[in-house]
Amino acid sequence: MKYTDAHCHITAPLCDSNIIAQICNTTTEADWEKLIEIANDQTRICIGIHPWYIQTATDGWVERMYKILQSNPHIMVGEIGIDKYHPDIDKQIELFITQLEIAIELNRPAHLHIVGAWDKLLHILGKYKKLPPIIVHGFNGNRDIMSQIANRDIYFSYKLRDSRISDTARIAVATKILVESDCDTCANQLQILTKTTREMARMRGMPVAELNEQINQNFQRVINYV
Ligand SMILES: [Zn+2]
Repeated sequence: MKYTDAHCHITAPLCDSNIIAQICNTTTEADWEKLIEIANDQTRICIGIHPWYIQTATDGWVERMYKILQSNPHIMVGEIGIDKYHPDIDKQIELFITQLEIAIELNRPAHLHIVGAWDKLLHILGKYKKLPPIIVHGFNGNRDIMSQIANRDIYFSYKLRDSRISDTARIAVATKILVESDCDTCANQLQILTKTTREMARMRGMPVAELNEQINQNFQRVINYV
């Protein structure tokens, strides 16, 4: 079977012939240029400032981010978000909204890291009528949160952690599921994608090849958006 990785931090082209495409995310501005160099049809990239690294933002980052996105129509926005377990939530929210609004204005999919901040995310997303596809990486919200955002163009990306996947993987709408490794090296990427897809197929009571095909279609829909 051939897999797609909806969220990783690998800074190289595809690692394995069984992985047909990947979306590589950045966490600080220092990585943007590095990733732009490896971007191609199979390795799609996102630029952004991660909520853990907001202190790395330097003067002029918004203009630089905007300019790169404007001149590279296939680049997406990420990894951006809000993480309750990391400091300075107000500043995190400020940077998140700035980057989300760039994604909305330039109509680029945005890759989100949300931990313990679902109420804040729901409040923020509620302000925008039209959103580009939003990919929530490592989705760990509950069923109630999933149901509150299910009517938007939001994708739920899963990864096996401690041999388990969030229970919402059972009920997520098939056309909104993605699988990710969140790896920063090639070492375990394929293994994580394989195990996650297999466990999710078991949870959903469906053949793994059928689920994998659906996941790959969902992945293509996201990257074909830009
Ligand atoms: Zn990540």
